[in-house]
Amino acid sequence: RAKEKGRNNFQFYTPAMNQRVTERLTLESRLRQALLRNEFVLHYQPKVDLKSGRIVGLEALLRWRPSNGEMVPPSTFIPLAEETGLIVPIGEWVLYTACAHNRLMLQAGVQSLQVAVNISARQFNTETLVHMVKDALDSTGLDSSLLELELTESLVMQNPEEAIGLLAQLKDMGLRLAIDDFGTGYSSLSHLQRFPVDRLKIDQSFVRDIGADPNDAIIARAVISLGHSLGMSVIAEGVSNYEQLAFLRENGCDEMQGFLFSMPLPVDELISLLRSNPTLAMH
Ligand code: C2E
Ligand code: MG
Ligand code: MG
Ligand code: MG
Repeated sequence: RAKEKGRNNFQFYTPAMNQRVTERLTLESRLRQALLRNEFVLHYQPKVDLKSGRIVGLEALLRWRPSNGEMVPPSTFIPLAEETGLIVPIGEWVLYTACAHNRLMLQAGVQSLQVAVNISARQFNTETLVHMVKDALDSTGLDSSLLELELTESLVMQNPEEAIGLLAQLKDMGLRLAIDDFGTGYSSLSHLQRFPVDRLKIDQSFVRDIGADPNDAIIARAVISLGHSLGMSVIAEGVSNYEQLAFLRENGCDEMQGFLFSMPLPVDELISLLRSNPTLAMH
């Protein structure tokens, strides 16, 4: 392509760009090896019921800890994993591991909780998603009602007709389904009504300034009442202070997730937390 446009285009390739390309390639090859090297870890963030203050579910969040490097946050490597298609095998590992950990928790004698796994576009488009989920459930013996999938609003709205078909198949298997980052995409309400979805997750960008920014408060209230009128429950993510918590409770939000209650935790710390049977102080 550069050739077609002529040699003058060469001026666009600055040393800084060259460095970025090199960094990307390095990251990509490290990412390719990460699965084999066992460098991925799942952390779990509790979801808390806003009436009882009790933990009612978990979200699995992927972490990459290269043996010879710093922790890489999901925001850095998931887009790259998506572009390269590596998200498909990585996502399979996430599904399997989350189901296996859930069984482990049962064996450790802690209460059984639904565990939610994030699914990205590249995975959602593959016909293999249904098979991967079946395999993960079969090989771990986890009951399908204990597995939830989180799909972003922009993902399901990209191709709603196709999404409805795949969601219905997953629903028939007995899974829970949630729409993540709700409010950031452009939902068609008529499609939303047809999605066999259990839960809406209010995006954390609306939660952040919920007490101070009237627009965020309006959106959060609207999502809560929309979800409820469609028969869905509503959870707020990124809750980090009591002002946000008070707003959410006053406005009838069902559940919360956020640093106020707990950071995402490694599985051993999660088990200790569950054993201590904590409740959220409502103040
Ligand atoms: P998400 O699914 O919307 O996850 C919520 C993010 O908010 C997580 O970031 C979580 O650690 C963070 N968070 C939780 N509580 C708070 C809080 O009180 N304040 C703030 N500021 N943040 C909070 P994380 O773990 O960095 O994950 C980022 C995104 O990466 C996720 O957004 C999800 O879209 C994606 N992701 C994570 N794990 C997976 C995975 O296994 N597969 C796929 N496909 N995507 C994943
Ligand atoms: Mg999520
Ligand atoms: Mg989210
Ligand atoms: Mg998000």
